[in-house]
Amino acid sequence: MAFTFHRIPVGIDNCYLLRGEQTVLVDGGAPGGFPDFERGLQALGIDPAEIKLILLTHAHADHIAALAQMKTLTGAPVAVHRNERAWAESGNPPLPPGVNLYGKIMIGLAKRLYRPDIEPVKVERAFGDEGFSLAEYGIPGQVIFTPGHSPGSASILLDSGEVFVGDTAMNAWFLRLTPGLPILAEDMEKVIESWQTLIAQGAKTIYPAHGKAFPVEVIRREIAGRFKV
Ligand SMILES: [Zn+2]
Ligand SMILES: [Zn+2]
Repeated sequence: MAFTFHRIPVGIDNCYLLRGEQTVLVDGGAPGGFPDFERGLQALGIDPAEIKLILLTHAHADHIAALAQMKTLTGAPVAVHRNERAWAESGNPPLPPGVNLYGKIMIGLAKRLYRPDIEPVKVERAFGDEGFSLAEYGIPGQVIFTPGHSPGSASILLDSGEVFVGDTAMNAWFLRLTPGLPILAEDMEKVIESWQTLIAQGAKTIYPAHGKAFPVEVIRREIAGRFKV
């Protein structure tokens, strides 16, 4: 079967379905998003049992809120970088810090309201910094460790240059008005190093978890701007 991929909006998040010889689901959906996920699968005519892996870009609350229901529906094992295994398995991940003023205000407000009530989910595959190839699923791509937004963030880079980055880039109105680097991150220097890795390995088109796709040149320009004196 020829490789294809699809975006499924799930609450404020995008999940992505990568369909090669087997199907891999990227990310576990935002709060209240499970009905969107079921509708998305139906619209694409995909049997949930086709999904053989649920791969998390990271385990912040908005990426694991529908995970338990998705796991029950599909029967698929869950993979996440080992630095965030405990977040998924406790159902109690932290909030990321704000990078700019807006991000700081947003997280300040969120902290007052934030009561994660997420069903814990067992992680079957806690991968390390070396990532892994998706060839075993018949998908032309690899999982690359790209820390910075969170300590276990990972991206999925296809051989053709499309890259699914979770929150290592953002493009949604409630986060930032234009596409670019994340406004919430544990370590911005690491975010930039991660982008240098992805660009060196051939990233061309960015598929963020929040918002629509955009070209990697946007990130390249933003990084160049930060280093201007
Ligand atoms: Zn996040
Ligand atoms: Zn997010």
